Amino acid sequence: MSSNENWQKAREEVILFCRRMQMEHLVYYTAGNISKRVDGEDGLYAVTPTNTPYDTLRPEDIVIATVDGEIVDGHKRPTSEFPMHTLMYKRRPEIGGIVHTHSAAAMSMAVMGWTLPPILTGFVEAAGGSVATARYSRPGTEEMADYTAEALADRGACFLRHHGLLAIGSNLAHAFQAASVTEGAAEVYLRLRGMGVEPVELPESEVKWIADEWREQWHG
Ligand SMILES: [Zn+2]
Repeated sequence: MSSNENWQKAREEVILFCRRMQMEHLVYYTAGNISKRVDGEDGLYAVTPTNTPYDTLRPEDIVIATVDGEIVDGHKRPTSEFPMHTLMYKRRPEIGGIVHTHSAAAMSMAVMGWTLPPILTGFVEAAGGSVATARYSRPGTEEMADYTAEALADRGACFLRHHGLLAIGSNLAHAFQAASVTEGAAEVYLRLRGMGVEPVELPESEVKWIADEWREQWHG
């Protein structure tokens, strides 16, 4: 398979998940961004362009870049969060996909700086356990990669303070699962807190057991 076919495949997969992100209302307008490593091409990844409505995305709009931040191909400029994507791929070779959303419940958690506790089995399976909020960083800065790494630790997602959500996975599907399912769990958590009750956490032994399923993706 030639390089261009590998690029094309990566670009199409990024667009597919952009459509899903839109369908699930995980973003408003052009907010958020998605990237994935290019299979078969060491050190290359594909990332969404800046300021482009998702329903107009064409494969050539998806930027191909190196993990050193050099742009290799694409008709548009990459997302404003390009430094964060680049640094995460560079620092953590096991990451295969990144999904950054501005979904409503995640943004609520991010505004408050809350941690979403392990309250649902599907959520633990998708994110690996509780999901914390990263310290505040300015959008578009490298600092965001530092604070995000800290908040992610060994989890599939974290909230970005006063901003949104960031999810990672060994591939794009796992990253998307973490972003999507965390949003659902955050919705449930906020609804219960809004009713004035304290959401009940799963027992620690169960969290550990279920999180093993999440961990498996990294050893595949
Ligand atoms: Zn954002």
